[in-house]
Amino acid sequence: MTRLTGKVALVTGASRGIGAAIARRLAAEGAAVVVNYHRSPEAAEQVVAAITGCGGQAVAVQADVSRLDQATELVKAAQKQFGRLDILVNNAGTTRDNVIMMMKEEDWDIVLATNLKSAWNCAKVASRIMLKQNGGRIINITSVAGIAGNAGQSNYAAAKAGMIGLTKSLAKELGPRGITVNAVAPGFVPTDLTQSLIEQMKETILEHTPLRRLGMPEDVAAVVAFLASDEAGFITGQVIAVDGGMVL
Ligand code: NAP
Repeated sequence: MTRLTGKVALVTGASRGIGAAIARRLAAEGAAVVVNYHRSPEAAEQVVAAITGCGGQAVAVQADVSRLDQATELVKAAQKQFGRLDILVNNAGTTRDNVIMMMKEEDWDIVLATNLKSAWNCAKVASRIMLKQNGGRIINITSVAGIAGNAGQSNYAAAKAGMIGLTKSLAKELGPRGITVNAVAPGFVPTDLTQSLIEQMKETILEHTPLRRLGMPEDVAAVVAFLASDEAGFITGQVIAVDGGMVL
């Protein structure tokens, strides 16, 4: 498919898991992709190699997107590398789960900064570029936890619910200038982030999932690619759950 030929995409947290699948899918659809990573340079280079090995265009750029200064440099580097920026996927995320009585203040701060502030940081800088280009796509990876809440994840669920508010507000703010802003809410997808949780709760998860399977990173990537394409040009401010029906 060549739905994204000529487009430039930045995917945060694309060295592993869902972000890596999104980077590969956007590249397979023709986009030049900036693969952001934080602490996994080798993994990021593997994603780049997989893309370029298939004839695509990609480059890895290190940045801690929870910090505005580094997020700013990242977005500018993306634009400089490929000459424009059409698609921003705010995917970087982390968890520090615990019941509220045991949760440290640091666990709240890190999870809010990595999942929520990072998206605001990157959108703040990318929207300026997209406004000058008279259009763009911002796609935020939230979670079913942000829709339904989850015991032991008060920090993560608050951050992911915050991303939904951010998505809807930016959709209203940037829509008149041709920029769509949507969120994708995955259910349980086996990655480094969820491995131990899924091992402990697999039966319960499947019981609560009408489609009776876990999600795959590629399930999420397919929806992101659609939202990034011209075909989704009249969709903004939406939260699309990719969860096998879990939050119905
Ligand atoms: P993962 O496998 O743990 O990967 C997380 C990615 O985020 C890594 O590439 C990591 O980069 C990057 N990252 C973490 N902190 C960062 C920072 N400060 N700056 C830049 N990059 C950073 O997680 P995942 O499961 O693929 O999750 C991806 C997104 O989907 C997250 O937003 C997560 O909340 C969301 N989600 C996941 C699930 C699920 O079941 N897996 C469900 C719902 C939502 P390095 O390795 O380079 O440090």
